[in-house]
Amino acid sequence: MPPANYSPIQVFLGFCLINALLAFYLMRKNSGRVHDLELKIRHLQEATNILNDKNSRDRENKNALQVKIRKYNSLKEIIEEINQNLNLDSISETLASIAFSFISDNKGTCSLYLIDEQAQKLNLLKSKKEDKKLVIKAKEGDIFDFWVLKHVSPLFIENINKDFRFDLDKLRQQDIRPISSLISAPFMSEQRFLGILRLDSQQPHFYAQDDLRFLVTICDLGAVAIENSEYFEKAQDLAIHDGLTSLYKKGYFLERLKEECRRNARRNSPVSLLLLDIDYFKNYNDKFGHTAGDIVLKDLSHNLVDFLKDKNAIISRFGGEEFCVVLPEIEKKKACIIAEELRARIERTKVVLRRQETHITVSIGVSAFPVDAKGEIELIVKADKAMYEAKQNGRNRVVAA
Ligand code: GH3
Ligand code: MG
Ligand code: MG
Repeated sequence: MPPANYSPIQVFLGFCLINALLAFYLMRKNSGRVHDLELKIRHLQEATNILNDKNSRDRENKNALQVKIRKYNSLKEIIEEINQNLNLDSISETLASIAFSFISDNKGTCSLYLIDEQAQKLNLLKSKKEDKKLVIKAKEGDIFDFWVLKHVSPLFIENINKDFRFDLDKLRQQDIRPISSLISAPFMSEQRFLGILRLDSQQPHFYAQDDLRFLVTICDLGAVAIENSEYFEKAQDLAIHDGLTSLYKKGYFLERLKEECRRNARRNSPVSLLLLDIDYFKNYNDKFGHTAGDIVLKDLSHNLVDFLKDKNAIISRFGGEEFCVVLPEIEKKKACIIAEELRARIERTKVVLRRQETHITVSIGVSAFPVDAKGEIELIVKADKAMYEAKQNGRNRVVAA
């Protein structure tokens, strides 16, 4: 076949067409690759976002974990501190300080109430405040504390204005400080309600559920320590005070007498001593019974305390029906006048035993330091001799050494 004869224009157009096709082909091919790349970039971006998200969550978790570790380390601190402490006041101080700093970061208010079981009321023992000038008026608790007392369970209020369990009008009437959120937990020991530890804030949603859990743990630990300190106080009290009359026991009284003699010797001032013994007390027991006799002893103790209340007297049940009184800074003559007034008052006092009106009398011996004795033992011996003389002389009388 003879070669085709193309004009230069045809050749040029053909060349342009081939180039255009080639360019079109290349464009199509590259646009597919760009698309793939864009897709890959998007996937990578998504993966980066997910990782960033996870990272920031991990960081938050790590921070929260550190806060938790710090908090739970503070529990160790509480246990160590309160276990070696039997003083109620410092135990309460530790509990309130730790709750206020670790849960509230020293913001808002923390209050610790203990129950007075006899009066059945709460007493504010410790408070911690962000605003130092703030005065907690509800010294015996407010409606939230009464709720915890009544339900014996923890209380969590995120926003007081949205909590329908409480009558806010009542709260306003009580005129307490502004509060928006609150957590509170009871101190409980074997079904015994001991008190309340409470945190409150002016900001709503200030506390989280986890904060309440931590507060409950502090209260559980605190309740054991509070109860131990109460037992310790009672044991100490029993060692010092007589169970029937609540007056000082002889041992403690002798220590106090020794102290008073030394103190007044330094200051050159006198100390007087009265020794009282009930007359014919055995007859009362025989006639009315031992229980009635106990009532007489109790009544006489109240009479002594009441009569001597403004004389700085130290009063002791010295033996069965024998009582001893120290009158610091009172000289012998004055002590004899006081003893006579006391004797007459006891004689006048009506004692009703088994519906029968009766009266008791006492014999009193008086001695004074330093005129009669150089030390406390000699002082007692002299008063005892004087009291014996009073018995010998017919009873119901005062005899001075
Ligand atoms: P006096 O005038 O010589 O002191 O005669 P008294 O009967 O008081 O003295 P006595 O020492 O013979 O008797 C004391 C009585 O006190 C005997 C005892 O039963 C009684 N007594 C001692 N302690 C208690 C007590 O805790 N409760 C009762 N109810 N009686 C007690
Ligand atoms: Mg007697
Ligand atoms: Mg006696």
